[in-house]
Amino acid sequence: MSTRVLIIGACGQIGTELTTALRNTYGVSNVVASDIRKSENDIFNHGAFEVLDARDKNAISACVEKYEITDVYLMAALLSATAEERPDFAWDLNMNSLFHVLNLAKDKVIQKVFWPSSIAVFGENSPKKNTPQHTIMEPSTVYGISKLSGERWCEYYHKNHNVDVRSIRYPGLISWKANPGGGTTDYAVEIFHEAIEKGSYTCFLKEDTALPMMFMEDAVRATITIMNAASETVKIRSSYNISSLSFTPKQLATAIQGFIPEFTIDYKPDSRQKIADSWPESIDDTAALNDWNWSPKFDMKRMVSEMISNLRQYEFE
Ligand code: NAD
Repeated sequence: MSTRVLIIGACGQIGTELTTALRNTYGVSNVVASDIRKSENDIFNHGAFEVLDARDKNAISACVEKYEITDVYLMAALLSATAEERPDFAWDLNMNSLFHVLNLAKDKVIQKVFWPSSIAVFGENSPKKNTPQHTIMEPSTVYGISKLSGERWCEYYHKNHNVDVRSIRYPGLISWKANPGGGTTDYAVEIFHEAIEKGSYTCFLKEDTALPMMFMEDAVRATITIMNAASETVKIRSSYNISSLSFTPKQLATAIQGFIPEFTIDYKPDSRQKIADSWPESIDDTAALNDWNWSPKFDMKRMVSEMISNLRQYEFE
């Protein structure tokens, strides 16, 4: 049976690029994008698109049946900063959408599930540097609690119901094709837009707050790699640490000044600082390397250069 993909939450920061990458991998006619709202982005005018609420079990089932879907990528969620403002809604969306999809896999209606976790599963008592795959977790945010719970359910469904679910703990993701959706690492995208448009940026985190980050192309490649890995090589069925970059706002500003020397930054930390303070600075991803051969391609300089050149082109089109 050929692979037929449904992406739920396709119009977000990751889904926008994942949709294109999955179409390139499986063919446009085998990838259905869906979201609660249709994005203006032209990529959603090519190929199938459905308006779908991830909390609606029946709507997901109907869509899976209509398109004979084999693999579901569940990207819809409320992210770290917005989840703090709407805890009940965040729990409802982040958890129930996962159950709907895991249950379809349990009933063998679909074959494979991708569900993203986050570095937000770690907490203040986790080691900050090179945070190991297995360690003290204790997340202190609404978002982190939902992601850690989700991880436990993924492993449970794998062990008890033979569900083929695969997951990655994404770090903060940096991209130019779609804007971020309300996370604590959003500054690392906003800074590029404002550096190009205004030549200055006011950062909502302190200058020395180091966080794990990754360029989107690496994150999408990791996602497709783990989904295509032989099942027996995917030994961890909660979620894998993956790692690429780790930097502070000050270090990112300095790297941007290498391309835009007149760029200036100041700092006005807000409520997101507390969230960032509870997260790791860098991540140990040895398990992902050993099990399915993960390694990132973008270092800091290449990421900054790629962001600036693409955004400049985009802004002046
Ligand atoms: P995003 O906020 O940019 O996109 C989420 C998408 O889900 C949006 O297009 C939104 O319209 C859609 N959505 C919201 N509610 C929905 C609903 N009820 N039904 C259907 N769609 C709905 O998020 P993202 O950055 O693309 O993140 C995707 C996943 O990756 C999330 O699970 C997120 O927690 C995880 N993640 C992201 C990052 C990051 O830096 N972007 C880091 C770690 C983990």
